Amino acid sequence: MRPSLLDPLFSSVAALPGVGPKTAKLFDRLLGQDEARVLDLLFHLPTGVVDNRLSPTIREAPLDAHVVIAARVAEHRIPRKYSNAPLNVLVEDDNGDDVLLVFFRNNFDWVLRALPVGEIRWFSGDLKLWNGHRQIVHPRVLDAAALKALKEREPTYGLTEGLHQRNVAKAIDAALAKLPDAPEWLDATLLRREQWPAFAPAMRTLHSPVSPMDLSPDTLARKRLAYDELLSQQLALRLVRAKMRRLRGRPTTGDGRISGAIEGALPYSLTNAQRAALADIRADLASDKRMLRLLQGDVGSGKTIVALLAMATAVEAGRQAAMMAPTEILARQHFERIEPMARAAGMRAALLTGRDRAAERRATLEGLASGAIDIVVGTHALVQDNVAFRDLSLAIVDEQHRFGVHQRLALGEKGEAVDVLVMTATPIPRTLVLTYFGDMDVSNLTEKPAGRQKIDTRAVPLERIDDVIAGIQRAIAPGARAYWVCPLVAENEELEVAAAQERFEDLQKRFGARVGLVHGQMKGKDKDAAMLAFQRGETQVLVATTVIEVGVDVPEATIIVIEHAERFGLAQLHQLRGRVGRGSQKSSCILLYKGPLGETAKARLSILRESDDGFRLAEEDLRLRGEGEILGTRQSGLPGFKLADLSAHGVLLKLAREDAEAILEQDETLTSERGRALRLLLYIFGRDEAVRLLRAG
Ligand code: ADP
Ligand code: MG
Repeated sequence: MRPSLLDPLFSSVAALPGVGPKTAKLFDRLLGQDEARVLDLLFHLPTGVVDNRLSPTIREAPLDAHVVIAARVAEHRIPRKYSNAPLNVLVEDDNGDDVLLVFFRNNFDWVLRALPVGEIRWFSGDLKLWNGHRQIVHPRVLDAAALKALKEREPTYGLTEGLHQRNVAKAIDAALAKLPDAPEWLDATLLRREQWPAFAPAMRTLHSPVSPMDLSPDTLARKRLAYDELLSQQLALRLVRAKMRRLRGRPTTGDGRISGAIEGALPYSLTNAQRAALADIRADLASDKRMLRLLQGDVGSGKTIVALLAMATAVEAGRQAAMMAPTEILARQHFERIEPMARAAGMRAALLTGRDRAAERRATLEGLASGAIDIVVGTHALVQDNVAFRDLSLAIVDEQHRFGVHQRLALGEKGEAVDVLVMTATPIPRTLVLTYFGDMDVSNLTEKPAGRQKIDTRAVPLERIDDVIAGIQRAIAPGARAYWVCPLVAENEELEVAAAQERFEDLQKRFGARVGLVHGQMKGKDKDAAMLAFQRGETQVLVATTVIEVGVDVPEATIIVIEHAERFGLAQLHQLRGRVGRGSQKSSCILLYKGPLGETAKARLSILRESDDGFRLAEEDLRLRGEGEILGTRQSGLPGFKLADLSAHGVLLKLAREDAEAILEQDETLTSERGRALRLLLYIFGRDEAVRLLRAG
């Protein structure tokens, strides 16, 4: 149960004075919540600060800024009846400088009454130059009392349509008044050393900036709160991890009979990196601790075979293994590659997706329950309630950042003491591994299989698209295959699909039936058919949206064109590029961009041309954009940070990790006085799942 001390923070924004049901809905939209709470409002940080000090004269009032001026009403310019024109009021000061006040769709009578000609009034608003004339649109009209009540500086906030600065400021004030007087959860020595304020004062400070500097992530108040957030997250990760450790593992040792057969049948030998990763995994499996390991490897680094050999070890021990992929296409593809190798070595493999026919599905479920099936590859259909295993001991989750954390854990709950291996093809920078996975063990496939050629990567402006198409024509005549990836349209899948459709029709005019199309809104079986036709070479140009981003394998494809490459992130471009260069032939990647490019886009394209090292690109990507995007948290719904910003607070993360470790070493169950205060922290940052673990433990 949440301590009642925190109740005021968890009450609905609608309960704040001055927030009616209609405004509350706007706050829900603004804060991205179903029912925004007071706490969400407090996490909505100001983005600007306005200076409410009275400007001595109109001439000295800065243009393009928020100003407060005093002026005498000189003239009313009333629009003709029934016209849509605004009401203009000309005001001037003693120097003869004037400002035009503009009122649209207002209650004109009210304005005219409030601003009688000849009277002095005070006005605040954004001063602009329009047609060479100073003007303020919809100024706030202040009387002497209102002027006196003005705060010298006021924060400004991000808004949503229908919500005004004043609504937000008022609600935030009311929210700040609800901050409880909570016991300190941070270490006193740390606080003193860093000179950080306590939680509630820090929150108040963040919401009362006096200069733009106060909005920076480097202020003491912001650092304190960022630290709070990082600490809560590190504590939660450790508690989960400790729970995993407490859960007894089972030693799983193979005798090499199946994995030996698989390895012996491979047309290549494993790279050293693959061998090392396998040794890590087998040691984990053999130990009586639970495995929680991340296998990172660039596209084409050969993760699949490592996964298969790990599964073989589980099967040799008389147990089962499951591998979950994020999409239907991928699950199917993994299965198709794995199944022949598995069968040849004496393992029975099955595929389980949401689209299996009923009879097939029943057979698979029976086989998993009876143990007739040794390994299963599937989508998240694997974690549904009706899926039961005879004895699952290894769960492999591929491309995991597409999954939420709970899905990862859910597969692990399908058996007794299941070892978990997470695979990702987007190498995650070390800092992010720590952030999102805690002290998860990591194996990196840093080495590429021998014989891989560097992909020739070129950036070409969109104006030269005809040359690119002509180039493709020359290449496909002797049988080459090309991907054509269509622009990403921000958060609008429909537009994205429309663009792909249009490009498809366009290329069809050139290449006829040799063009295929695949996008995210197609039916599963149509998608598969399109992929299959391309795989078989029946189509040679495959127009696609980013559905092909992850893992699709057609070794014969040697060209990839990425349209509007400037709209993609670095990691994503790298992923896409990894669709080619999978065979022995020289491949190329054409980044079609629309200029002029911004600095970030320019940097991205040039780094990509230089490097094909996924680990390096991941680090650069982190530098160029936010951590949420890299992990695909935007898509996955995995929450990002509210107050912490890893590019600014990276140092704090390390501190928070050490702190969390020390805290739990001394007080594993968070029952000491400080421990109980830390529980408040976990609630504040939405880590109550971890608190529940404490109780279960
Ligand atoms: P990933 O899943 O890491 O993107 P894959 O497992 O799909 O990579 O492997 C890419 C390709 O490389 C596959 O066709 C696979 O057969 C091949 N491959 C894997 N390991 C090796 C190796 N050690 N030597 C040569 N080819 C390899
Ligand atoms: Mg793969």
